[in-house]
Amino acid sequence: MKEGLEKYRHVLVITDKKHEEKALRMQRELQNRGKSVQLEVMASLDVLIGKELVSNQPIGRGLIIFGEGTLGIERVAVSAGYSRDDIFIDSSQESRAFCSQCHHITIIGSDESFICENCLQQLEPSEHYSTYHRASLAYPVFKETDGKG
Ligand SMILES: [Zn+2]
Repeated sequence: MKEGLEKYRHVLVITDKKHEEKALRMQRELQNRGKSVQLEVMASLDVLIGKELVSNQPIGRGLIIFGEGTLGIERVAVSAGYSRDDIFIDSSQESRAFCSQCHHITIIGSDESFICENCLQQLEPSEHYSTYHRASLAYPVFKETDGKG
């Protein structure tokens, strides 16, 4: 059982086909604890379908997202009124970094520097991990200027 899920009576689980097994195990585990679970399986995580699903949920439910591309679903859930505390993400592949300038979260493949999708700063992930953003903090890379700046 994921920490924090105890308090929800109703949980919406969204998963892609690839993570269906894992999601089913989670569903059983939650049901064994007397929770009502709505499981939605998509071929791959689709933001439009996800938006539809989260918009039809009463506020105060837990949301678990399995799969690749969970960030899109997370964003529509937050704009539909979910608090970040109500969203649980299970995606081992994704490495997330958030921009120290605009706090935009970018999915990164490695620890190398990357460009923020939102403000286009060149950033480098740090060791600092934010549990709020569930991402590492990334700082701008200051390029060395040749000669006089
Ligand atoms: Zn940024």
